Amino acid sequence: MTKHHIALIPGDGIGTEVLPAARRVLDAVGDFSYQEFDWSCERLAREGAMMPPDGLARLRDHDAILLGAVGAPAVPDHVSLWGLLIPIRRGFQQYVNLRPIRARGIDMVVVRENVEGEYSEIGGRLGRGTPDELAVQESVFTRKGVGRVAAYAFALAGRRRGLLTSATKSNGIVHTMPFWDEIVAEHAAAHPAVRWEQEHVDALAAKFVLDPGRFDVVVASNLFGDILSDLAAAVAGSIGLAPSANLNPERAFPSMFEPVHGSAPDIAGQGVANPTGAIGSAVLMLEHLGLDEAARRVTDALSKTSARTPDLGGSATTEEFTSRLLSLL
Ligand code: ATP
Ligand code: MG
Repeated sequence: MTKHHIALIPGDGIGTEVLPAARRVLDAVGDFSYQEFDWSCERLAREGAMMPPDGLARLRDHDAILLGAVGAPAVPDHVSLWGLLIPIRRGFQQYVNLRPIRARGIDMVVVRENVEGEYSEIGGRLGRGTPDELAVQESVFTRKGVGRVAAYAFALAGRRRGLLTSATKSNGIVHTMPFWDEIVAEHAAAHPAVRWEQEHVDALAAKFVLDPGRFDVVVASNLFGDILSDLAAAVAGSIGLAPSANLNPERAFPSMFEPVHGSAPDIAGQGVANPTGAIGSAVLMLEHLGLDEAARRVTDALSKTSARTPDLGGSATTEEFTSRLLSLL
């Protein structure tokens, strides 16, 4: 069996607690070598940058990247986002952000466009501090960018239950969203077996709460997908459960796998973080590497374990949860 080379970025806070748990699980089901990178808000405070200037080059030759969480109370969220996550997502063309949500009768995957759309650096502010001050923020959607995420989502729905829901807001956002809708509709023709629908994102948010069980694959822009996937994770239970993948489907660059939660400074250092989201992210990594049998073993063990961390009302520590899980593999 080939040995896979994994880049580990534990990051900050509970990232440094849940990533070792995921690593123990990986070592129990496969053969991996690791290189660890201390890139984080802690490094930012020490060296003035979250990652070195040649960071992407150092990650480039790994088969995958597993990340814990980055963030710190004293560092504004946009600094940690633009200092590490966005450069990696964009630099490695990880244009699909996959967030599976499974629990309480819910089994859906949110496919979020991950490199363009509303999260852009284009815009600015005029007349700072004056009564006429204004701010402009541009969204950028491209035919190529929307088309490739739509193609991925249709193909995924075809392998699942065959329903694709596209999030839009073309009644209020009159240029980019009709463009999104048109391109999604064009891709529908190539996937006649997939039923597809489009919903305004506000109505969709309500349905996520009222009837989450009806959804299969949901495709959404960068901003809408960000909001919808956090909402869906909350509806399904603790945010500590939710895994995610940042995929470069063409495999020209390494993909990155990370739990949806942040660094959770309120519980960091106590050893009680729920490692399920990080372990689930490792499962997505195993699947991406073609190690389906290993992925299935971990998924089975996760569904069998009765250990519960405090976020789910239990008293197991991260270590106890992980040891119990390992005994079920
Ligand atoms: P960041 O700024 O890094 O995003 P945050 O505090 O904004 O951090 P999260 O870290 O996701 O956001 O935390 C949100 C809440 O969920 C916190 O109360 C945290 O303790 C809890 N939480 C997040 N992840 C976990 C986990 N794995 N296990 C238990 N509780 C968690
Ligand atoms: Mg946060």
